[in-house]
Amino acid sequence: MLKSFQNESSRTKRRRIRKNVEKAVLAISAFANVPDSAPTDTVACVADVCENPCTSASCIEFDNSEDNDVVDVASHIESNKQCDVSSGYCGTDNSFCFDDHTDSSSAFDTDSEINDTDLADELAGWVHRCDVLLSHVGLLLGILRKYHPSLPKDPRTLVKTERKVFIKQLKEGHYHHFGIKPTLTNLWNRNCLTVSDNSKQLLLQVNVDGLQVFKSSSYQFWPILGTIMNSVERKVFEIGIYGGYKKPVSVDEFLCEFVKELLQLCENDEVALGHISYSVAIHSVVCDAPARAFIKVIKAHNSYYGCERCVDVGKWTSHRVAFLSTDKPLRTDESFARETDEDHHIGKSLLACLPIGMVTHFPLDSMHLVYLGVVRRLILFWLRGPLNRNCRLSGHSVHIVSDRMLQMRNVMCKEFARKPRSLADVDRWKATEFRAFLLYLGPVVMMDVLSKEHYEHFLLLHVSLYCLNCKRLNQTHVEYAKKLLVCFVQDAVELYGEEFVVYNVHSLIHICDDVMKYKQINAITAFPFENHMKQLRKAVRQARDPLEQAVKRIYERRNTNTGIDVCDAWVSDDSGGAKCQSEHSAGPVLEQHSHVKQFAKVTFGKCTLTLQPSDDCVKLANGDIGIVRNILKTDSGVLLLYARFAVVGSLFTSPYKSELLGFCYKVSNMDGCMQSCNLDAVVAKCLRLPYSRDINVYVVIPMCHNEVY
Ligand SMILES: [Zn+2]
Repeated sequence: MLKSFQNESSRTKRRRIRKNVEKAVLAISAFANVPDSAPTDTVACVADVCENPCTSASCIEFDNSEDNDVVDVASHIESNKQCDVSSGYCGTDNSFCFDDHTDSSSAFDTDSEINDTDLADELAGWVHRCDVLLSHVGLLLGILRKYHPSLPKDPRTLVKTERKVFIKQLKEGHYHHFGIKPTLTNLWNRNCLTVSDNSKQLLLQVNVDGLQVFKSSSYQFWPILGTIMNSVERKVFEIGIYGGYKKPVSVDEFLCEFVKELLQLCENDEVALGHISYSVAIHSVVCDAPARAFIKVIKAHNSYYGCERCVDVGKWTSHRVAFLSTDKPLRTDESFARETDEDHHIGKSLLACLPIGMVTHFPLDSMHLVYLGVVRRLILFWLRGPLNRNCRLSGHSVHIVSDRMLQMRNVMCKEFARKPRSLADVDRWKATEFRAFLLYLGPVVMMDVLSKEHYEHFLLLHVSLYCLNCKRLNQTHVEYAKKLLVCFVQDAVELYGEEFVVYNVHSLIHICDDVMKYKQINAITAFPFENHMKQLRKAVRQARDPLEQAVKRIYERRNTNTGIDVCDAWVSDDSGGAKCQSEHSAGPVLEQHSHVKQFAKVTFGKCTLTLQPSDDCVKLANGDIGIVRNILKTDSGVLLLYARFAVVGSLFTSPYKSELLGFCYKVSNMDGCMQSCNLDAVVAKCLRLPYSRDINVYVVIPMCHNEVY
């Protein structure tokens, strides 16, 4: 219908507009004559629909300057101060809908319209959540409209596609700025932004990174993403997106609108969310090393003056730059501002005019630096490293490690989205797989495979990163972790050669400074932003105008009330936030609990315990390591029945006894006597891994990377 309307002459268009307006006026008159007893639901219906401005693709925008008839029409309806659903006019903007449903005779059949409005919202949410093609949605609407005639005919109306979006032309490429303030207001309106503390300040974390959009083309996005660090749910949102066949040529041009708005927000503007006005402060800028160098306008990470934290000068060795010193003077925000090390700078960054430290507000991102950087490099040296260094594993050893990794697939907890893969797939491992290897699997699968020196060297990295990830240890043991990391970097030269100590490995000595400043390493990683990138890539389906496509999809999501972005509220019951599922009666139960309900699964926070071997191991406040045998729901809360391990020892003793650090326990001899405890007594859910030297022994590692306790 839209197409035919667009193809018609101006005169015909005007005639049709006039005809529809007449219908609208008639409907409004009819509305005015509705008896007093009727309108309660009607008003609710009208208000409900009008909350969403009519931005459908089938809406025709009036051009007031050219068409006087239309001005009259618009002003006439505006004067009525009503919003007529049946005629398709929404008083909130100068738009007029020509959907077929405007002919519906049941214009004020309120119950069905309320239901259809809900149905339309639900459908729009489903379209976003399942990423359904609009052509398929159009076919579905064709079927549904037979039974729900007020549903829109055009799928773009359903998902509230913006008719026009403003794309700014840059020297090379294009840019669209969503804005920080409008985005925060939109998030708040959709209940996706709840400030977690009592402060009147929103702490904004920013991420800038490149994204290859197509496999067969160099076209790329450079989104500026943000998240509010002191909100209950850390939702990632787009602030602006650049699209082009090259990385932005001018960083100033790319960042111009963003910096301008942020500067205004930081200096004197505020964001009104409900009744409270919030100021905005910059928490940090989290990027990978190339993006940091790009937006800070400094030398690249692989250049001689590339270290962002100290003035160490790189050394060219084996076709790469290595940073071999661990005790050079540190760069500071002041020294950066004064450009005391001229060789480090390429130019002046626009970001320098923001109220941030150009060194301390740019933490080193552990996802790229540690997991994709150091851990990957370490494994590749074990597989393909220089022969003269005695670090390369034999084919047999690689086979053993791969076998052990595959065995671990059955014992990984639900909280791990990816199961371990063989070393043969290491080139395709994702960052989360490298993280799982470093924090949990590595010490077990590499035991007796690496030489003693190489294994103990790997443990330096494992212990230090575990301490930095663990809430219990990340402040008390941060100095200890720093010492271990300095040892790791110094010993790496001896064990793997100078060429091993590139920027990523060298920067390990600096990451503890960030943990001291930001308290948690998980608060300054790019994982949330990297996950969000998938949505941007999915938003582009055709080669034509990729940036416009992505921008429209993002606005659709923002215009939809029940889209993928809407926070799922945590559903709790009366058991202190714990949710018990899968009721059974198979026991075991203690005598005093014979009457209570039994369950096979309990979820609390982000953690799920079940009676299955992969999800049944817990560490308790009294120090017990136990296996959950049953979950009981009593009047006073949730009880766990568990069998404890009688023998608990350390998996390793260097650099320190792992048992005393509180992780990597070697456990055996399960107690036959059943114990009970409250769910509150659980300190951590644990991974229970098979121990290669003895089948009766397990290695138990409390999970630390997504702690919720
Ligand atoms: Zn350095």
